[in-house]
Amino acid sequence: MTRLAFRPKQSLGQNFLLDENVARKIVAAVDPQAGDALIEIGPGYGVLTKYLVQQAGHVTAVEIDRHLHARLQEQMRQVQNLTLVHADFLKVDLQQLIPQGTAKVVGNIPYQITSPALFKVFDYRQLVSKTVMMIQKEVADRIVAVPRTKAYGIMSVFSRLYSEPSIAFQVSRNVFKPRPEVDSAVVVWDFSKAPVVSPHSPELLVEVVRTTFNQRRKMLRNSLQRLSCYQENGPGLDFDLTRRPEELDVTEFVDLSNQVARLWTNKT
Ligand code: SAH
Repeated sequence: MTRLAFRPKQSLGQNFLLDENVARKIVAAVDPQAGDALIEIGPGYGVLTKYLVQQAGHVTAVEIDRHLHARLQEQMRQVQNLTLVHADFLKVDLQQLIPQGTAKVVGNIPYQITSPALFKVFDYRQLVSKTVMMIQKEVADRIVAVPRTKAYGIMSVFSRLYSEPSIAFQVSRNVFKPRPEVDSAVVVWDFSKAPVVSPHSPELLVEVVRTTFNQRRKMLRNSLQRLSCYQENGPGLDFDLTRRPEELDVTEFVDLSNQVARLWTNKT
């Protein structure tokens, strides 16, 4: 494909992959098995889809653009193990698309939906064994970042809490049309390799991570004041609250939130 059949929509993050080698490498990172159900986000012209259907048991591809959806529908109408859905991935009910077992989620996704798409997959992680996404390189670096580095933040903590994230390889901006402003990386989140941690209250854990990183330069004892359940119980924690969120690894966040949860339940 050297010419595009229509004018790409920047608002939908349409940067189409032209390099078949890169497409095959992404598919290799997904490692589809004959029994696998895959969900693809934003198939576009189907550069990944055509390889995915060759190897996976079934592929469900969710495309928001009506023209691209119709085009792919026409082009792939012979393909038995493909379901094309015309919808916004952020609005679909993944449970409905994964009626049994688990699925792998894959996509060369629009950069503007990286964070919501990823958190959506996290929300459904019981149904997802692995996710492979091509995203902006800087965001990929944040995802795999370790404590005490500048890139370490909310994305790193949640990625590590729910999975084992890794960068499979980097991709130059030159293999897309139109050419984006940034380089990319293909990231793999393996949900089967999540660390064994047991937060007493997963909701509170999420709140603790978000609240403390929203003021990442502040000591924990200051930012934790913002938690509605925290204030009066603060002094009872067996945790060095002069530390800052960027120093804490996933296990320590779980410990901290469990202590807050325990004190809170004792009070109420
Ligand atoms: N995967 C293709 C297309 C990448 S461009 C390739 O590698 O060439 C991103 C694709 O995601 C476009 O087809 C765009 O229309 C689609 N898209 C954008 N927002 C979406 C959303 N919210 N839900 C589903 N698809 C979306």
